[in-house]
Amino acid sequence: MNTSVSQKAFEEAQSLIPGGVDSPVRAFKSVGGTPIFITEGKGAYLKDVDGNEYVDYVQSWGPLLFGHRDETIEAAVIEAVKHGLSFGAPTLSETELAKLVVNFFDSIDKVRFVSSGTEAVMSAIRMARGFTGRDDIVKFTGCYHGHSDALLVEAGSGAATFGNPSSPGVPADFTKHTLLAEYNNIESVKKCFADSDNIACVIIEPIAGNMGLVPADKEFLHELRAVCDAHGTLLIFDEVMSGFRATVNGAESLVGVVPDIVTLGKVIGGGMPVGAFGARAEIMNVLSPDGPVYQAGTLSGNPVAMAAGYAALTKLKQNARVIAVLNERANRLVNGMKDAAAKYGIAMQVDTRGSMFGFFFNENEVKNFKDATTSDAVLFAKFHAGMLDEGYYFACSQYETGFISTAVTDVMIEDTIAASERIFKAITNG
Ligand SMILES: *Cc1c(COP(=O)(O)O)cnc(C)c1O
Repeated sequence: MNTSVSQKAFEEAQSLIPGGVDSPVRAFKSVGGTPIFITEGKGAYLKDVDGNEYVDYVQSWGPLLFGHRDETIEAAVIEAVKHGLSFGAPTLSETELAKLVVNFFDSIDKVRFVSSGTEAVMSAIRMARGFTGRDDIVKFTGCYHGHSDALLVEAGSGAATFGNPSSPGVPADFTKHTLLAEYNNIESVKKCFADSDNIACVIIEPIAGNMGLVPADKEFLHELRAVCDAHGTLLIFDEVMSGFRATVNGAESLVGVVPDIVTLGKVIGGGMPVGAFGARAEIMNVLSPDGPVYQAGTLSGNPVAMAAGYAALTKLKQNARVIAVLNERANRLVNGMKDAAAKYGIAMQVDTRGSMFGFFFNENEVKNFKDATTSDAVLFAKFHAGMLDEGYYFACSQYETGFISTAVTDVMIEDTIAASERIFKAITNG
């Protein structure tokens, strides 16, 4: 496969943009290749500047549940654009999208829209602190909650890939209120509560997708809820990735644990920049202008972005069963690849939640970030490069989750499995 135009484009980009990218994980650093420059997407496919086509299992890192250029979403955006790009005043589109979100989530009475997942989480944390009058927060090693200062501590994926668990430029004073616990380990949570009686909230990805796909145990989440309740601490489910991907009604509907606050992003914007955070009214009412906790955004609730999100979520609401269909494909894909790998003596751990899939080159089960780091990164890099060459675009880090869009067919899944077998064979000289 010829990628010379991408290579030249990357060289020029690097002279103007740090690392040639506007978000680090795009740079292919951990797999040692050159990022592919994209010209367009259609359905399941991406096309690059050299004219190569790929089946896309990244889908913009999650947002594109219905694939590239979904006709309904595209038409809604074009229609919205014709009325003006931004007003900085209320529009009906915000209320319409809010109605959908409130309907999907039992835990949410009110929601506020922002422009990214980072903003949603940052604002949710401030709201939790304002509501409880407490300063400390608990997060889990390997969970990623965006790049705001207090949350950039042992934060999985991009940060993990680059070995900067906590970043220079974040004063130690800003993270001293962030306590760390181990995923799926309730004793580590109890230790945080033994160390502090000032914990405003515990934030967790209930289905972690930023250390590879590592869902929390149901029992662990129930225990987490109980510990939070015992201390008057709020529980935040960060569903920026898993929201509308794992299931339509939130992780709460899968595990039977109701969070106090939910953060959303990715799918909720249908490909446009949208984030959101929601909770019961009592909590949301502390936000300005009703309450004293300040939060704002010039482009928040942008009408074009709202139109894209509304089209995507309406489509999902009308066909909620699609998540189960995508889950069957996700299972077929990862189990097919696992069987192919086994033929060449390669051990894989695989899992899926709805349209999310994950795999580790590891002989042992992965329950937390420490387990994830014992996976074979060298093998992953070879697999990634081989699959890219075959025309399959997988996330370029073993700490990322894969996504099936509705545009991916059963035939594509079978072809992907067959390609993976060729790659495993080549890697092992089998
Ligand atoms: C992607 C992600 C974020 C950050 O969202 P951005 O839109 O990239 O700022 C936060 N939390 C989780 C769980 C995510 O997957």
